[in-house]
Amino acid sequence: MIYAEVIGDPISHSKSPAIHGFWLKALGIEAEYRAAHVKPDGLAAYFAARKADPDWRGCNITIPHKQAALDLVEDRGGVRASIGAINTVIREGDALIGTNTDAGGFYTPIAGLDLQGRDVVVIGAGGAARAILFALSRLDVARVTILNRNVLKAAALLSSFGLKGDAVPLGAPLPPAALLVNASALGMQGQPPLAIDLSPLPDDAVVYDIVYAPLETELLAQARDRELDTVDGLDMLIGQAALAFELFFGAEPPRDRDEELRAILTS
Ligand code: NAP
Repeated sequence: MIYAEVIGDPISHSKSPAIHGFWLKALGIEAEYRAAHVKPDGLAAYFAARKADPDWRGCNITIPHKQAALDLVEDRGGVRASIGAINTVIREGDALIGTNTDAGGFYTPIAGLDLQGRDVVVIGAGGAARAILFALSRLDVARVTILNRNVLKAAALLSSFGLKGDAVPLGAPLPPAALLVNASALGMQGQPPLAIDLSPLPDDAVVYDIVYAPLETELLAQARDRELDTVDGLDMLIGQAALAFELFFGAEPPRDRDEELRAILTS
């Protein structure tokens, strides 16, 4: 039977098997999507073995392999020079091709938002923030303010995407941006909360928290108290999975069943 996988170390927490499994069943596709625990010293052997398995359609890649995997596959889309990390590998003939669906997954839930010429705030400057800044660099936004613990890292990220804006420390007052994205680990289970004052945001601002464990973060609760529109981390997670699913199985997932899927993922 054909199959795809998600690889990482650790991997048991991954929600990807539940997402892809739900879509495979919904569409009646005879295939499997599994989690595979791959340690860093086993990554090269993993790709060598899967390349020889004709049933393997590809894999998603999570921590800590998102950069290392780039060295083991072809980078036809120039991901190394842009986002700098891959989250998906597919097979094309005898070649293994790396790609990144996080930027598209981030963008899908806000595709209806006109950000052209508007200001954006991003909290965080790690791997997820890179994919988000890549997406923002394609949207013709005005200024991007990055709040991050390591300000130099944030400034380097802004300039690497040719974005206008500022890198400031966490805790700096927010500018009146149209979109605020939390792309940091703050607010995640086991991490400190994100302490932030949303009052400078205009009433039509959207607050997007990519953290999905917990799903209802303090940031989103605070935004809802202010009656701001919100997007949660499952929207991005399902969005990046949907793009990968099409690459693995050649079918569009049934996004009209997202509510059912979200209920499974949060039960
Ligand atoms: P990462 O590369 O490790 O980056 C972590 C970021 O959080 C950095 O900006 C780091 O600041 C900041 N940070 C971590 N601990 C901190 C602390 N104690 N105080 C202040 N800042 C802190 O991680 P990532 O891969 O970007 O992931 C970030 C979050 O996004 C995680 O919660 C992850 O689960 C989530 N995520 C969600 C999706 C989705 O599809 N919804 C996809 C990818 C990631 P420094 O730069 O100063 O170290």
